[in-house]
Amino acid sequence: MLSNQEKLRFSRQTLLKSIGEPGQQALKNAKVLIVGIGGLGNPVSLYLNAAGVGNIYLADGDSIDISNLHRQILFNETDIGENKADTSAEKLQQLNSDTNIEVLDEMLDEELADYYFPLVDLVLDCTDNINTRYLINRKCLEHKKPLVIGAATGFDGQHMFINPNIPDSACYQCLFPASKKAPENNCQTLGILGPVLAIIGGMQALQAIKFLTGHSVATNQLNIFDGLNNSWQQFSLKKQANCPICSG
Ligand SMILES: [Zn+2]
Repeated sequence: MLSNQEKLRFSRQTLLKSIGEPGQQALKNAKVLIVGIGGLGNPVSLYLNAAGVGNIYLADGDSIDISNLHRQILFNETDIGENKADTSAEKLQQLNSDTNIEVLDEMLDEELADYYFPLVDLVLDCTDNINTRYLINRKCLEHKKPLVIGAATGFDGQHMFINPNIPDSACYQCLFPASKKAPENNCQTLGILGPVLAIIGGMQALQAIKFLTGHSVATNQLNIFDGLNNSWQQFSLKKQANCPICSG
């Protein structure tokens, strides 16, 4: 049941017929894990927390650097040197003190993934390195957890949804096989603009809210944003019969 305070707080959300109070209750009951609380994890955690997702796990072992501040909008100058997940938890709790927030202030590894993935309904990959992306993808398949992946560099970004509970859902390694590893292009090597992360992180949060409130979210679809030309493109993906992760 939603309290009167919650009904008031989320009234503009529950006004939406396809959310309503049942949708808001579903968000309140939901448990999500956000891996990487940087450029994407900041807007993703802000929007999911503000929207009333009741249980949020934040995983990041990194500390805040001055070069993060142009895009990682949860942080300010006095936070430099602090852990990203810890600091985000404090700020998010100020926005919504009802959210249960748990912090993992270290980098995700096999053991942590095996402990935390079974506890949640959905995982959001907001990382920027390929090895962690492979690990998250593999562990989501093992534990049958839906996954929203986001990535951004320069003016460009992309997002996709993977649902291991749907038999023909392509996985991240169907798209980027280990033998043809996606080049290690990230914000450190290519640069990034903050608003591009807001757009991709916003899309990840939107996909998560849709999934958690029972809307259908397309799998096998790579969505690519080109910020210089203001365009979105969608590519259809197929589960690869030789994918060692999802077809093995
Ligand atoms: Zn696959």
